[in-house]
Amino acid sequence: MFIKKIGIDLGTTNTLVFIPNKGVVIFEPTIVAYDLNDNKVLAVGREAKEMLGRTPHDIGAYRPLKDGVIADYKTTRAMLKYFISKVLGSFNVLKPVVIISGPAGITSTERRAVINAAMDAGAREVYLVREPILAALGAGIPINSASGHLIVNIGGGTSEVAVISLGGIVSWASLRVAGNKFDEAIIEYVKKKYNLAIGEQTAEKIKMEIGSAMPQKNKTEAEVRGRDLDSGLPKSIIMNSNEIAEAISGHLEEISETIRNVFLNTPPELAADIIEKGIVISGGGGLLKNIDEYISKVTGVNAYIAEDPLYCVAKGTGIILEHVDMYKRAMMSKK
Ligand code: ADP
Ligand code: MG
Repeated sequence: MFIKKIGIDLGTTNTLVFIPNKGVVIFEPTIVAYDLNDNKVLAVGREAKEMLGRTPHDIGAYRPLKDGVIADYKTTRAMLKYFISKVLGSFNVLKPVVIISGPAGITSTERRAVINAAMDAGAREVYLVREPILAALGAGIPINSASGHLIVNIGGGTSEVAVISLGGIVSWASLRVAGNKFDEAIIEYVKKKYNLAIGEQTAEKIKMEIGSAMPQKNKTEAEVRGRDLDSGLPKSIIMNSNEIAEAISGHLEEISETIRNVFLNTPPELAADIIEKGIVISGGGGLLKNIDEYISKVTGVNAYIAEDPLYCVAKGTGIILEHVDMYKRAMMSKK
């Protein structure tokens, strides 16, 4: 079967590729590794991530998207090329229609850059759709209805908060506080409290294992290994979930402040809809334990986690690909 349509969730941390009738066929880190001598691409995705932090001097591993924006056009193009040709294989003679996610605040220059990159990579037509719209669709929200919906997508580099109604974004805000910042806060906390240096991957692992958005009566614990900052020797400590909640509380506060601001800029009728239907949370940050409870508490509005929060944006591209005529308003082309 020839592949005629491809959806791509180009995230700061993870890139997912969706094919109608197949689902998500690629889920890999958004990273490209280069040979710095001749600027050739050595590896993309998982393979490139393994090189990160362990690379010899003449290999560079880069994340093409920083804080949700395209920081590096060449690397973005290399990534799109790699993933598109990987799913098409060499027998696909038809050029596919491609939908790519972009940050809510994408500029026209950035939009053109991404679309050109995908055209270069072999697409016939390319449309960009803003991430909150895709996340909402993938979360099962009927975005074309005349009712207001609030989606909070917490990714790795950015969190985006948007109110959607009649297929478009009514008000939104984006902040550069999300999963990566949580990891950094855990690193700082462990350094201050235990005089222990830990790496980003360790911090992320603890966050996933025992992280919680709110302190809990029933704490969970995990062993944390790092390097003692005085002796320089390896050391291991036990941390609990309430400590992680404390470490990331400042960042969660920033996210809730942003949600409140978006509410302030939302017409009262739509705000009333949201209070009735609740806030929907998507993105990898939605997997942080008790994040729904936290957002409900700070906003006073019921919040719930979308099903498979990491897959919402990718699933959203699939929904648009299947009903292009229904979502014309959300699809941005080159101009
Ligand atoms: P992006 O859209 O920016 O690529 P994703 O939506 O893929 O980001 O989410 C990636 C973020 O989700 C990372 O910061 C990762 O640490 C975080 N994450 C993934 N799983 C969990 C989990 N179980 N608990 C807390 N955070 C998680
Ligand atoms: Mg994302």
